[in-house]
This record gives sequence, structure tokens and C-alpha cells, in this order.
Amino acid sequence: VTDATRELLLSRIRDVPDYPKPGVLFKDITPLLADPVAFTALTDFFVELCARHGATKVVGLEARGFILAAPVAVRAGLGFVPVRKAGKLPGATLGQAYELEYGTAEIEIHAEDLSADDRVMVIDDVLATGGTAEASLELIRRAGAQVAGVSVLMELGFLAGRDRLGAGLREAPLEAL
Ligand code: AMP
Repeated sequence: VTDATRELLLSRIRDVPDYPKPGVLFKDITPLLADPVAFTALTDFFVELCARHGATKVVGLEARGFILAAPVAVRAGLGFVPVRKAGKLPGATLGQAYELEYGTAEIEIHAEDLSADDRVMVIDDVLATGGTAEASLELIRRAGAQVAGVSVLMELGFLAGRDRLGAGLREAPLEAL
């Protein structure tokens, strides 16, 4: 990614203070999605990472990860697999609970969508505490597949999600634009 592209993409992210609750600076990607040049450039960034790391499947994390990962899958010629909040997938699922700031959450995947031959690239908009990504890596492993990497638009470095993911990533890279 060139500096100009990175600057374009970052200029299309809107910072919304105190959303969805006081003290959170929400990173709103809807201006980026609405700009076809920016959305295409971001898709190209993820496609390139999928190619570099030999991904065979793309996993999107509900909900904004779906929007980002689906065009990547199509452009890269790879299958798309959703990781959803618990209770949304109709088939046989694997589930993984994880800690939030207050309480716990659970995500699920259709295990049959991944096989032992798969190398999976996980895509989301924001890596914050890393809890969601960490749980998704666990699901991918439990489904018998390998992790090709985690790719996000933004990493909130002060929340140290990278450290939390460390063990789960093993040799796989975490890359943020
Ligand atoms: P975490 O599990 O803490 O890494 O949170 C990651 C999930 O929450 C991602 O799916 C993000 O879309 C969302 N998220 C967390 N913090 C923010 C933020 N400041 N702005 C936008 N989305 C966020």
C-alpha cells in the first residue's frame, strides 16, 4: 500500500466520540465503504495479504468483517466463511466463549465449511482487545484448519490486542493497515 492510499483510507474513517458508550472512540468505516475508490483499495490490501500468506479461505467476523471480507473472497477466488454471534448459524456449529470488559460473549462457526487443507485469513475492521479475533483463531483450529493470518484495517495499539493474540497466532502474522 502506498502512503497516498493509506492516507486516503484513514481519511475515510470517522472518529465518533462516546459511541456506543462514554469513553469509547468509535472508528466508523461507513464513509470508507461509501467511497468506491477507498473500498476497492482496502479490498486490494486484504487480497494481497491473502495471496502472500497462501490463504485458501476468508473468515469475516460479524458484522463489519462480513462487509470487508466478502469482496476479498470474491476477488481472491476464495471461499467465504462467516464467524457469527452465538445462535445465528442454523447448522452444526462449534462455539467459543471469550471475556469482554463486562461479562462474556460467544461466537460460532459452521465447522463443515473448513477442512484440514484450509489456511484461513481472518478479516475484521478493528482489532481492539483482541478477544474476538483470539476466539475466532480457536474456532479455526478446532475445526481442524490452519490460520494463515489476521488482517484488520485498524489496530488500537493501546489495548494490546496483539499481545493477547500472540499465542493463538503462533507463526501466523497479524497485519493492520
Ligand atoms: P475486540 O474483541 O475487543 O478486539 O473487539 C473487536 C470487535 O469490536 C471488532 O469486531 C470491532 O468491529 C469492534 N470494535 C471494538 N472497538 C471498536 C472501536 N473503537 N471502533 C469500532 N469498532 C470497534
